[in-house]
Amino acid sequence: MNGVIEKGAGKIDGDALERINRYTRRPYKAEEVYTFSVVLCDNEVDRDYECFTRDALGKLAVLFEGKTGLLDHEHTSRGQSARIYAARVKDFPEKRTSRGESYAQLTAEAYVPRNAETAAFIESIESGIRKEVSVGCAVAKRTCSVCGAEHCAHQRGRLYDGERCVRILDEPTDAYEFSFVAVPAQRAAGVVKRFSGMPAVQIDSFGALLKALETGDAPVTLDTAALDGLRAELQALEKRAACGDRYREALCARIRKLSAVAQPELGAGLTAAIVKGLSIGELEEMAQALQRMADAKMPVTPQLAGRSLEKTEQAADDRAFYI
Ligand SMILES: [Zn+2]
Repeated sequence: MNGVIEKGAGKIDGDALERINRYTRRPYKAEEVYTFSVVLCDNEVDRDYECFTRDALGKLAVLFEGKTGLLDHEHTSRGQSARIYAARVKDFPEKRTSRGESYAQLTAEAYVPRNAETAAFIESIESGIRKEVSVGCAVAKRTCSVCGAEHCAHQRGRLYDGERCVRILDEPTDAYEFSFVAVPAQRAAGVVKRFSGMPAVQIDSFGALLKALETGDAPVTLDTAALDGLRAELQALEKRAACGDRYREALCARIRKLSAVAQPELGAGLTAAIVKGLSIGELEEMAQALQRMADAKMPVTPQLAGRSLEKTEQAADDRAFYI
């Protein structure tokens, strides 16, 4: 998240000074501090297709009070920092976010002591050089705008029935130190959001791995246990696939034999070519149909049915041999 420094007012009232002095080692006089406003974040959808709720901004206002931010290297050489002494949510009821909600900004008041170290920084704000602050926070709840779930298959940024899927950030649990960043031509990509309440994605199957990679909600790390789990799943799947292959082969062999009896004019090569492209379900259907056709050609008494099929298969085998 990047906020923007608003033009510093510099005027300090008694209330502000009292708030500032809660953070100083000794009481400061009004002329000893310089104050400025910073927009920390808002409830608009950001580049990561995420947005805060209005409620979250209110909670962040409390969490950001007292937090410090290092001044940029450009203007100070040694660890001078600004501190937020007040933060509040500014509502803009006439303005709507892209999601159609009433627009709101989290605005903070910050101060720096006036001294040789901070003079250049203060000058840069006074002269209107645009600055941004990069802020970070932790949230416990992120829900999908499409389905309202915390974990789902919807992908951020994608359209679902014309609605853009975004993650809605709520229940902030912590706010971190902020930093001043130079404003590049294109907005900085360094968005800092941490999701404290979110457990790391447990990868215990290929399904879980694919889902984690698709939704991209949390970092995916594969440890040894996860790799062992995936290897075991792969081995089990290979075994099942081998069973499936053998069943398919048996089914095809049966079809070739039945076909040789039921429709000998088709030829073994053509039958083999036909079965190649069929699914298991289609093969089963074909085998059943051919069985009926073969039975119709060779009517048998029910009690001899089993032996008759053996005979039929034997005959088909012989035929195949002759071809
Ligand atoms: Zn969803």
